[in-house]
Amino acid sequence: MEWKGRRESENVEDGRGERTRGGTGGAGGGGIGLLMTIGKMFGFKGVLAALLVGGVLWKMGIVDPSMLLGGPPTVTREQIQVSPEEEERFNFVKVVLADTEDTWTKEFARHDKKYQPPVLKVYRGQVNTGCGMGSASAGPFYCPADQNVYIDLSFYDELAETFNAPGDFAQGYVVAHEVGHHVQKLLGYSDKVAAMRARPDYNQYSVRLELQADFYAGVWAHHNKEYLERGDIEEAMRAANAIGDDAIQKKMQGKIVPHAFTHGTSQQRMRWFNKGLVSGKIEDGDTFSMPYEQL
Ligand SMILES: [Zn+2]
Repeated sequence: MEWKGRRESENVEDGRGERTRGGTGGAGGGGIGLLMTIGKMFGFKGVLAALLVGGVLWKMGIVDPSMLLGGPPTVTREQIQVSPEEEERFNFVKVVLADTEDTWTKEFARHDKKYQPPVLKVYRGQVNTGCGMGSASAGPFYCPADQNVYIDLSFYDELAETFNAPGDFAQGYVVAHEVGHHVQKLLGYSDKVAAMRARPDYNQYSVRLELQADFYAGVWAHHNKEYLERGDIEEAMRAANAIGDDAIQKKMQGKIVPHAFTHGTSQQRMRWFNKGLVSGKIEDGDTFSMPYEQL
């Protein structure tokens, strides 16, 4: 993919020097969660007793109440070493993000809508998000609550080595897929699917959502055809194939990512990416109306 010297997005936040420590990772964690558990087991008197004991321990200097209550994680900033290869990847994702902005601004405008781009946050190791703590082992992800895309650039080593899907276009596809989730958030698909969480067939809706994100990644590719080089589509297909549900799902942990659920089979993923690539139109990506077996 030709990308050097092209426009880089300004909606990228460099959080690689941030170190996140502590924090309860959302409601129900830490001391509050402990008190709720005690309350369930021992009732109100139990909670009172626990508070009393906690208060005494605190007075004696044994526990720090902030420790009990958890509170927000602390973020410190460090100077980081960045290799030239990593800097190149960083610049690359900025160009891909800029491409998605142009693509979706055009597509939304065709439907008299205004596209609000997401922020891409590049981090290392662990990151505090509006959806709880995220970690690099989960791969890139989108958080609907804060509308950010998160990526640890070391994922690209994994894509090349573990998933055997190297190449810059494969890396671009991964970003475009996550931005696809943002498009779904803006169009209301994510919220509709999230509301079905309790249904027994929820997993099917999750697959439909994932395949639509692949279709949107294909739409991105369609609108950037002029920058494609030989073998690029194969690269993206290989990535779509390699990060099908069975491959990547093992790596997902926790509730923060829709990816904790199945993405659909590798074949389905490739088919929908390809549909997006051919069509280039937002309205052709309806993965919700057709029967599940025909996806
Ligand atoms: Zn996804």
